[in-house]
Amino acid sequence: MQGVAPGGIDCDLHPALPGTAALMPYLDPYWREQITVRGIDGLDLASFPPKIPANGRADWRPQHGKPGADFERLRHDALDGFGLRAAICNPLYGVQAVYNRHFATALATAMNDWMVAEWLDRDPRLRASVVIAPQDPAAAAAEIERRAADPRFVQVLLLAMGEAPLGRQEYWPIYAAATRHRMPIGVHAGSTARHATTGNGWPSYYLEDYVAHAQAFQAQLLNLIHEGVFAKFPDLRVVLIESGFTWVPNFMWRANKTWRGVRAEVPWVDRPPADLIREHVRFTLQPADAPPDPADLARAIDQIGSDDVLLFSTDYPHWQFDGTDAYPAGFPAALRQRVAVDNPLATYPRLRETLA
Ligand code: ZN
Repeated sequence: MQGVAPGGIDCDLHPALPGTAALMPYLDPYWREQITVRGIDGLDLASFPPKIPANGRADWRPQHGKPGADFERLRHDALDGFGLRAAICNPLYGVQAVYNRHFATALATAMNDWMVAEWLDRDPRLRASVVIAPQDPAAAAAEIERRAADPRFVQVLLLAMGEAPLGRQEYWPIYAAATRHRMPIGVHAGSTARHATTGNGWPSYYLEDYVAHAQAFQAQLLNLIHEGVFAKFPDLRVVLIESGFTWVPNFMWRANKTWRGVRAEVPWVDRPPADLIREHVRFTLQPADAPPDPADLARAIDQIGSDDVLLFSTDYPHWQFDGTDAYPAGFPAALRQRVAVDNPLATYPRLRETLA
């Protein structure tokens, strides 16, 4: 096994919520009763069916329960197994897909309380993203404010496919709060199923849904740039998590070419989109959509035109890479330390300060 560079930071780790019942201690009596009498459970996102192979590497999958739900296993397999200095937890549960915005907000708060009590307090290496319900942007901003007092929350978590494109002004209170507290916005793969997961409607197979995520990330990136989010929030960083990254050079070329022709439409985009991406956007490493020839992977990274944009991730316990090597085959040796240590520290100021 090829380990992560010394002092490595995992920017995408997935503790799993066993089920809605695990949130009961963190909900008020009204929602506890609602969950009980209505029999609400199983809010897992359809993007991540717990039993598909990709949702748990075979040797990380417990005999019972969901991969990632057991703290001791996560500590053994991921924190100790990869020799990590720190890891950012991104809990995926269908909070963002709930239609009742008040319930969604209550669930988000409970998820964050659960994260503190059952994960962060048990290992000093763990950090977390703030779970919010973007269905109610004002309440989401308030949740960011509440968590900002705890330096172990280092990022705000959103999904790649939601109600509306993420650049829309209705979401700007979220970006204002995140920027105020120097938290990047982490956009993780996943759909709330508000809309079809492809531009042509619903696909027939999970496989299509999975592959189509790259299109969703591209659409969000275009929207964030052209709605003017980076002009309004010059300090904002966006981390695309589980987006892949070898599509980025081609995307940059198309975005730049079209911007040159019709930028009069969006005068607040005062630089080529590729420059904005290099400055504001980061990409986690796994799953690496790497070509089979290692030389091609190095070329794709070179074409992005920056050594700053990739962040090491294991995506534990998800099964995204062949074998047990922490880096994709052929990943340039010269970049290993940079993506595992330097880039995460530069991207997450709150993480940097708590490790200092
Ligand atoms: Zn992930």
